Amino acid sequence: MKKKFLEKKLKKIAYERIDILMNLAEEEAKKGNWERAKRYVFLARKIAMKMRIKFPKKWKRRICKKCGTFLIYGKNARVRVRSKTYPHVVITCLNCGAIYRIPMIREKKEKMKEIKNRNNQKK
Ligand SMILES: [Zn+2]
Repeated sequence: MKKKFLEKKLKKIAYERIDILMNLAEEEAKKGNWERAKRYVFLARKIAMKMRIKFPKKWKRRICKKCGTFLIYGKNARVRVRSKTYPHVVITCLNCGAIYRIPMIREKKEKMKEIKNRNNQKK
């Protein structure tokens, strides 16, 4: 019991640290200090890995998984909205060229609702 409590506390601290580091990374990236921003991102990811916690959603889309660069949309990352086959956002890291496709969640939720409704009608 006590151990679990401690683990929870440590994880909370880890999340706080990640948040601080990512805020610093954003600041440095905005100033153009890409290397320093990268270092902060590296440290934040290291904490997440060590604590085996998921990277906060808030920051997940802001880093390039491939090269670890902090992404600033419109500066070192290109964002395009695509609706072919399924609506999604395409984020391109201009540092290493990695491409990330993110499906639009709202659409997904609506689709899930539709499926649920259909299933209810069947009953
Ligand atoms: Zn990259």
